[in-house]
Amino acid sequence: MFKRSVYKSPVELRSMVAAGAATAAALDEARRLIAPGVTPLELDAAAERVIRGLGGRPNFQLVPGYRHTLCVSVDDDVVHGIPGDRPFRDGDIVSVDGGAEVAGWNGDAAFTVVLPDAARPEVVAARETLSSVTEQALWRGIAALAGARHLNEVGAAIEDYVRGEGDYGILTDYVGHGIGRSMHEEPPVFNYRVDRRGTAVRPGLVVAIEPMIVAGSLDTFVRDDEWTVTTSDGADAAHWEHSVAVHDRGIWVLTAADGGAAGLAPLGVEPVPIP
Ligand code: MG
Repeated sequence: MFKRSVYKSPVELRSMVAAGAATAAALDEARRLIAPGVTPLELDAAAERVIRGLGGRPNFQLVPGYRHTLCVSVDDDVVHGIPGDRPFRDGDIVSVDGGAEVAGWNGDAAFTVVLPDAARPEVVAARETLSSVTEQALWRGIAALAGARHLNEVGAAIEDYVRGEGDYGILTDYVGHGIGRSMHEEPPVFNYRVDRRGTAVRPGLVVAIEPMIVAGSLDTFVRDDEWTVTTSDGADAAHWEHSVAVHDRGIWVLTAADGGAAGLAPLGVEPVPIP
């Protein structure tokens, strides 16, 4: 069904490590800097500096019509928010998505943070739970990949977990994807159960898993900027993502500095560096 090129060779898998590491470093820098009063454009510039300093280039800038290194989506914006100059405020829930291309290979990852707000503890707590459920959904999906025979087991694991955590919606308008020479490749990676098994999981498969979870209706629209995806009912949204490689000896989270060890340990999965 899918081209052989869905699967990378061992040499190609090793070539993707640098792009994953540059992506991780750029997002770690964005996470370190994010605070009330800081602007999304400042995060964007910092992430670009990190990527270029590691010999890469921001791959979001390779998407036709997009000029930034990051997407920064605040509150009811789910994904694809364009970094602007409105400073972050107390209590914002902020999703930051970015990627690096190094030596022709790509990484793609995202995280969500909630800024403190002493005046609105209930809002902050609800947003932190939403982000935590989304992050844990990502790790469940990655852990499922480690033992999966077919790719769509990932979405089933994500959906089963999210359904058990409360009244959350899994966005269906956008899904994860294969990644390699291009940032977006076959196959699609669903964040929910589908009635097809999907691509065979075997060494050489590299996918970006990226659950987008909302605290309300699944209905979204694209803002007048033609990029930003926003919930129609104004509900909060969170987005977490990693690029993950399947190789001969196990899996390795390319866009986590520790290969995913900390996130996967509670789930009984130990990532193995790409040999
Ligand atoms: Mg992605």
